[in-house]
Amino acid sequence: MKGNVIEEDELSKYELHTPRNIKEAVELMSSIEEEAYYVSGGSKLIPLINQNKVAPKHLISLKEMPDLRGIKREKGLRLGSGATLFEVAHDEFVRRYYTALFDATNELGPREIRRVATLGGSICCAVPSMHLLCSLLLFDPDVAVAGMDPPTHQHGMTGVQGGFLYGRFMGIEKFVIDGEQPPLKKQEFVKEFVLPPVWEKTGSAYVKVSQKKAKDLGLLAAGARIRVSAGEDLSQSRNAFAGMNALSDVFSALENWKVKCEEVLILLGRPAAPPMRFRNAEDILKGNVISPKVFDDMIGSVLADIAPVTGITAEAWYRKEIAEILVSRALVKGIDRALWPDEKVRPESSW
Ligand SMILES: Cc1cc2nc3c(=O)[nH]c(=O)nc-3n(C[C@H](O)[C@H](O)[C@H](O)COP(=O)(O)OP(=O)(O)OC[C@H]3O[C@@H](n4cnc5c(N)ncnc54)[C@H](O)[C@@H]3O)c2cc1C
Repeated sequence: MKGNVIEEDELSKYELHTPRNIKEAVELMSSIEEEAYYVSGGSKLIPLINQNKVAPKHLISLKEMPDLRGIKREKGLRLGSGATLFEVAHDEFVRRYYTALFDATNELGPREIRRVATLGGSICCAVPSMHLLCSLLLFDPDVAVAGMDPPTHQHGMTGVQGGFLYGRFMGIEKFVIDGEQPPLKKQEFVKEFVLPPVWEKTGSAYVKVSQKKAKDLGLLAAGARIRVSAGEDLSQSRNAFAGMNALSDVFSALENWKVKCEEVLILLGRPAAPPMRFRNAEDILKGNVISPKVFDDMIGSVLADIAPVTGITAEAWYRKEIAEILVSRALVKGIDRALWPDEKVRPESSW
């Protein structure tokens, strides 16, 4: 660019296509032989193009496709890949039943980014957005992918012939990639995420710690989804629970109330590595009344499984201490939400 004049070769860097539906999009991608990318919010891809790190000749925008935008309550939750992080964070159903997803999307990056970045784009970044992936993993969704069988170019005919549009489901864990390309064929794209229904008395939470107050990528984050049962009616016990400051008091109360862990999933999100799941710690909680001893054993197991290393952002001992705090907070928040879903979760700063 010279002054305010845009040079012609800048304008013609890539051709932007705006298909209106899934069929048009995959047909278009199948017919292009030069380098081409799908683009959703563009918050990751456009800066890469501007920095000349990738040089596509074509961009196929998925933004104008209403099929990809919805957030639907159908036997659980169906999240269109084109839903923005802002839309997810402001959906009441997500907030009530898939609360860890609300926590993560509400905290991810600056507000301007949350308004454009989409679920699909976040999962398909070569280094997938840590918070979003981690919080989605808690709910074990299926990822619906749209694609097309290899088309053929027949002699004497223009365009693509014989391509067959298909949809397939993949487990979200396939997207736990580390600096590699997402597990999709060239013409495939993510259509939606299908999250199973959440059982009664299930709560979830996602908490993170950052070096700066700004909502950056974070040092570490923990996510938990827990289903509990209680030995007595606890509807009047919320105030007592919310007033407890020491974690030991919290777990003694849960033991007295015979609050049992029926099902649990615990994850740790790390900025430059795939999320880590603590199956041994989960086994310690599962099927047991949550007592100070059970909780201590569970945390001991988490710490034994973590092998933190000193990096440029934090030393190993610090990461270990932070991991203990984050896992405890995520679990207590999850238990709070499971037992009293209509109450606002109490400030985590109290413990
Ligand atoms: C200032 C800033 C702050 C940020 N802070 C955070 C943070 O705190 N935490 C965090 O985790 N992340 C953070 N991010 C990363 C951000 O989350 C990603 O930029 C964003 O999630 C990408 O989404 P998008 O829709 O814009 O993707 P796009 O840029 O549109 O696409 C990204 C990649 O995914 C592919 N793609 C897009 N949609 C699909 C689809 N439906 N199917 C298949 N492939 C697809 C594209 O081809 C491209 O390769 C930040 C980014 C910025 C710019």
